[in-house]
Amino acid sequence: MFFQKLLEILGKLDVKTMMGVLIFGNFALAFLTLRYYLYHESDHEKKLILRFGIAKILQAIAWIFLFLRGDISDIISIYFGNILLFISFYLDSLIVLKINKKTQKIWFRLQSVLLALSIILFIFFEISLGIGNLRIAMASLGVFFILVIPNLLSITNNLSSRFEKFISLISLFFLLLLLLRALNSLFDNDISLFTNNLLQIGTFLLLVLLMFVNGTGFLLIMYDRSYELLRLSSNLDPLTQIYNRRFFMNRAEAYYQRALRGRESLSFLFIDIDFFKKVNDSYGHLFGDEVLKMIAQVIADSVRPLDLCCRFGGEEFLILLHNTNNEQAVLVGNRIREKIQNLVFEENPGFKCTVSVGVYSGHPDSNKNLQYFIDNADQALYKAKESGRNCVVSS
Ligand code: GH3
Ligand code: MG
Ligand code: MG
Repeated sequence: MFFQKLLEILGKLDVKTMMGVLIFGNFALAFLTLRYYLYHESDHEKKLILRFGIAKILQAIAWIFLFLRGDISDIISIYFGNILLFISFYLDSLIVLKINKKTQKIWFRLQSVLLALSIILFIFFEISLGIGNLRIAMASLGVFFILVIPNLLSITNNLSSRFEKFISLISLFFLLLLLLRALNSLFDNDISLFTNNLLQIGTFLLLVLLMFVNGTGFLLIMYDRSYELLRLSSNLDPLTQIYNRRFFMNRAEAYYQRALRGRESLSFLFIDIDFFKKVNDSYGHLFGDEVLKMIAQVIADSVRPLDLCCRFGGEEFLILLHNTNNEQAVLVGNRIREKIQNLVFEENPGFKCTVSVGVYSGHPDSNKNLQYFIDNADQALYKAKESGRNCVVSS
């Protein structure tokens, strides 16, 4: 019943209406994309967003040329219309390749070859035969071959997200139907661009759906990615690009609970730069910032991948070493202290910088908590400052 009604409605649609939808739909997508491009704060993948918008405008123009068949010169409608359509789908295909992570250059080159082949074959058959159904077949085949490989690559790429694969899978489904249409029109002499049979209407419906899936899919993928970037950067200290205190405290709590359950030893190292105020006063704040960045890098490079470190505030850093006893932690502290002492700063070659380190290690138990460990490391740091700085003290 439902399907019967649906078929009836489909039967009433005509190709020109569907083309209108493609024209306005592509312009609408271009508008949304360009708006996203202009008002998007991060520079992340902006070029890609702009390219997508341009591809949609080209596609809308292509559909206008095809829509006006009979009213404008055939040269413009047939040649320009179809070639522009190929180019816009080619741009789409490059965008799919770009979205795919780690795509090799050869695939981009292959797309250019496929575009050239599609255009050459289309023109060749048009000039030599100029038959309506063959033209439709060539146009559909061209679109199929231009889009099929990037979508297949996206599905088979281990680095693609599940959503990216899903979008490509739907696109692939539409492309297969388009291939069927191409083969069908190859053997049906009666078909031409504006023929209103179910197959024609179905094809245009497919193109409309492909436009929606491809457009919303692209915008959502871009949105997902910039959100992910934002989420990651919200965990980092903007100056030093190591974790910030908030993120450290969240993660440290989980480490603490795990050490409690596994009866493991944890070590905390509190690091404070010595006489840092003087650095700022003598060399300026900008140089002070450079020193902070270098020291943060030394600290981050000195811990194991599963340890945690952060800029706790100002010129203070905090490290959590998992499964590490006091003796080992003091060794790590001294290694870091010595590395920093030996740093050479290009801007001020004579400048030397030192740090003081407070260490506290222990087995978490139910009478203590994370703050207890951090407070003790802080007190050890205080003692290190008291005993003359540039040293490691454990409590
Ligand atoms: P000490 O720790 O050895 O006792 O002396 P200090 O001079 O390092 O002590 P204090 O903690 O009082 O000074 C910290 C200074 O760090 C003060 C502040 O101007 C500077 N500072 C904090 N954050 C930044 C920053 O982001 N950039 C720069 N350039 N300086 C910062
Ligand atoms: Mg300080
Ligand atoms: Mg200090």
